[in-house]
Amino acid sequence: MKPLSSRATDISPSPTVAMDARYKDLLAAGRPVVSLGAGEPDLRMPEAAVKAVECALREGKTRYAHMAGLPELRAALSRKFSEENAIRYSPDEILVTSGAKQAIFTALTAVLDPGDEVVIPSPYWVTYPEAVRLLGGIPVEIATRFENGFKLTPEDLRAAITPKTKLLLLNSPCNPTGAVYTRAELEALAAVIVEKDLFLISDEIYEHITYDGALSVSPAALGPEIAARTATVNGFSKAFAMQGLRLGYIGAPAAWAKAMVAVQSHAAHHPSTLSQHAALACLTASAEIFPPMRAHYAEARTYALSRLSALKDLGVRWNDPAGAFYVFLAIDALLPAKFGDRKLSTSIDLAEYLLDTYDLATVAGLGFGREGYLRLSFANSLDVLKEAFDRLERGLRALAHA
Ligand code: PMP
Ligand code: GLU
Repeated sequence: MKPLSSRATDISPSPTVAMDARYKDLLAAGRPVVSLGAGEPDLRMPEAAVKAVECALREGKTRYAHMAGLPELRAALSRKFSEENAIRYSPDEILVTSGAKQAIFTALTAVLDPGDEVVIPSPYWVTYPEAVRLLGGIPVEIATRFENGFKLTPEDLRAAITPKTKLLLLNSPCNPTGAVYTRAELEALAAVIVEKDLFLISDEIYEHITYDGALSVSPAALGPEIAARTATVNGFSKAFAMQGLRLGYIGAPAAWAKAMVAVQSHAAHHPSTLSQHAALACLTASAEIFPPMRAHYAEARTYALSRLSALKDLGVRWNDPAGAFYVFLAIDALLPAKFGDRKLSTSIDLAEYLLDTYDLATVAGLGFGREGYLRLSFANSLDVLKEAFDRLERGLRALAHA
């Protein structure tokens, strides 16, 4: 038999999604697992969105729709970009997709030729390098530093650029580090992007989940030159807890948007009309939805950080997240370790041990491009977090140095 595609077989499944599947399988099998694993909001989807889906179903809004997304949703997203992000994208420059994940794939498909290099600051969200590889591009990782909050510097960006560099993939607020770039930091990066004639994909899916006054800034708002080369990705999975409905969107300059619409017209036609009606209702009700959502994650963050503070004697370190709902915990001081006969050398060993022995799901740092870390998601209620951090503490304290 002939082999499967090397592009597909050379990549591994998403480690966040794989851990989530294991956690949910174990739960279904009756194991008392708790999760600090996948970044999955514990909140319910907004009531207004539930009603919009019911209504759309009753009214039979289940036929094919516009390939770029419902015109009324794109008009609302155009207003959202203008009011919340100070970016002008006309409805024709917006594509509605099946999740932000699909938006990133579509944007990359429209911009990459085989052999093009894409600069990705690490730690990165697990999907970025694999998406680039699947499309025949070459991911070029730039290691950012714990000491400066894992932020890409203009000097490091400049040093990574070669004649083949096509694009930078930037994520602020960042999954997994929680880093939020300031306006001045983004201006400095934008200057390099413009000077070196690169494209930028700015993934802003956590824009509304920020803490202690941190503010998410959109690079495309920083001036016409950077706007002309930036695609801005967002979605309804995080701030609106609509992750199962798979709805994202992307704004981009006209030519890039047109190419993406053509790609989507063949690859998916359009995302579910029901999800699009839910999204429209979310946008209409966002002023009431955001404050309790933000308060919920702020409370969860305070609790998570207080529990981690009690583990400092073990040598674990982290940067307090300024956004998103993750802590990227440095656990290198604990490794290598042993538990009875079990030897733990890597972050993957540690995550497996916590799952097997303490029924606690976490995600190993390696999938985010960095060994020696565990990613913890605190998108959960205080009751669940208490149980999860009790287990984490017991699990880490039970380890002996090997
Ligand atoms: N970008 C980042 C940084 C993420 O963490 C995620 C995870 N959900 C996504 C994009 C994709 O989100 P979705 O496809 O659920 O909209
Ligand atoms: N983005 C979430 C995470 O990082 C959900 C899973 C995924 O899409 O990667 O855990």
